Order: sequence, then structure tokens, then C-alpha cells
Amino acid sequence: MALAPLIELNDGHKIPQLGLGTWPLDDTQVAEAVVEAVKHGYRHIDTAVKYGNETGVGNGIKACGVDREELFITTKLDGGFQGSGKAVAGLDGSLERLGLDYVDLLLIHWPLPRRDEFVSTWKTFEELQASGKVRSIGVSNFKPAHLDRLFAETDVIPAVNQIQVSPSIPRSVARAFNEQHGIVTESYSPLGASSDLLNAPVLASIGRKYGKTPGQVVLRWHVQQGLVAIPKTSNPQRMQENLDVYNFELTHDDLLALETLDAGPDAGVDSDVQGH
Ligand code: NAP
Repeated sequence: MALAPLIELNDGHKIPQLGLGTWPLDDTQVAEAVVEAVKHGYRHIDTAVKYGNETGVGNGIKACGVDREELFITTKLDGGFQGSGKAVAGLDGSLERLGLDYVDLLLIHWPLPRRDEFVSTWKTFEELQASGKVRSIGVSNFKPAHLDRLFAETDVIPAVNQIQVSPSIPRSVARAFNEQHGIVTESYSPLGASSDLLNAPVLASIGRKYGKTPGQVVLRWHVQQGLVAIPKTSNPQRMQENLDVYNFELTHDDLLALETLDAGPDAGVDSDVQGH
């Protein structure tokens, strides 16, 4: 059983490059999935208040038989807890449901720019990090313009920006911006979620050369670009498959062929309108 390599964050903490996504699993399903995933080598679990499954994630953590310190647990603050000071209660609720005394990474789930509360929320995140209840702080669905506000008005640069990224939605501009500022890009919906990305013939043809599935080719694409990715599956065989991407390498020509999957700049979610 091999573990995913660790990627260093700008605050010195380390995040396993591949983790388990948990949306839309319920408490019962996710507890089983976490136990199974840990058995297959996952040490990084991604949840959110919004998913309504933090209690199940916590039950999985308790039952998995691996020390808390070896696990990397991310949760995301819901919009209802944005605004000055409100994230304190938001995080306390998550910790209680998870049965933990700290999380490894806390993210602002959406910028919700029309509410204009993400800057004051971030200032509370800075205090929460200083309190030790969260080791690393980051954001999700933030565009460069949202990050620019944080750089100008607050002290701590986010460690992570979790955004939708896959070969069909490569988000090259946003990723380059994150990288330029020392922010690790974490890919959500890395396999294309419910789209038909995995049926693309180019993935099957590249996979055949290495004895790998389309899903493994896509996850290798994330890994080779230094991205962190959180594929979701509750299928034990796929859990194993999705971690088994460190024993082959995509060539320059493979990467060029994968560029043909790019669906263009308008594909994917728009964080200015989603999540309100
Ligand atoms: P995803 O991980 O790209 O795709 C999940 C789908 O792929 C599931 O239907 C899964 O089915 C299937 N799958 C998994 N491994 C496979 C494989 N090896 N071969 C074929 N199919 C495979 O999409 P996602 O769930 O949207 O994203 C992953 C995680 O990102 C979520 O679970 C959540 O934790 C996070 N997320 C965050 C945000 C945000 O706003 N920050 C938004 C969306 C998602 P089975 O389960 O049946 O295997």
C-alpha cells in the first residue's frame, strides 16, 4: 500500500497530493468510505459543512485505526458563517461533528462576492489559525480578483485555493496566478464529475500504452502538474485505482494530446454566481 506524496504549503504544513472527495455521500456511506479509503492508503479527506456528512467523516476517522496526526482533514465554512467573527462558531460546529480538536485545512467554500463578507471572514480565519483549531487556512472558488482583495486587506496568504480543474476545464490562468503567489491549487471534480470526460477516446488510447484506465490518466495529469486532487468514489476498487498513478509518466506528446480536451474558458462553474 503506497501513500500519496506530500506537497508543502506556504505555511510549512504538508498536504497529501491525492485525497478522497466525499460529496454527495451521507453520514453512513461516508463513514464506510473513509474506513475503506484509509485501508487503501488515503490520508487526506475532503468534507464541508454544506455536505452534511461531517459526523459520518468523524465516525470514519474514529473507526479507521490510523492516528489522527497521520490524517489530513479539510472542511469548508458554509456561507451562513461568513462575516466578522462568525467563522468561530462555524468551525466549532465542524469540530464537534467531526469529533476533532483541530482540522488540518479550513476553506472559505465560496467567495459570495455580492455579500462582500469574504475579507472579514478571512480575518477571522487568521485568528482561528493562531488559536490552533486549524493548521492551514485557504479558500475555494476564489478568482484572482477575490485573492487580490485578500492580499491588499489582510495579512496571511491562503495556503490553498480549491477550484474546479480537470483536463476539460484546465483553468490555466487561475492556476498560474495561484502559483505566482505561493498558493497550492487543489482540483475539485478532478475526474470531470458527472460529465463524460472519462469516455474521451484520447484517454483510453493513452491509458492503453501504460496499462492504465482513463481515470488514472486524468489523475496522472493532475499529479504531473503539481496539483492536489480529491477524486470522489465510494467504490473500493476505484479508490485503489485512483491512488495508483505514481508508477507511470505522461510524455510531452501525451500532455499535448490531452490539451484537445479543453472545453474553453467559459466551461465550468462561475464563482460569482454559484453558491449564493
Ligand atoms: P469527481 O471526483 O471528478 O468525480 C466523481 C465521479 O467519478 C463519481 O461519479 C465517481 O463514481 C466517479 N469515479 C471516481 N473514480 C472513478 C474511476 N476511477 N473511474 C470511473 N469513474 C470514477 O467529482 P466531484 O465529486 O464533483 O469532486 C470531487 C470532490 O471535490 C467532491 O467529492 C468534493 O469533496 C469536492 N468538491 C468541492 C467543490 C467546491 O466548491 N469546493 C465542488 C464540488 C466538489 P463512484 O463514486 O460510483 O465511483
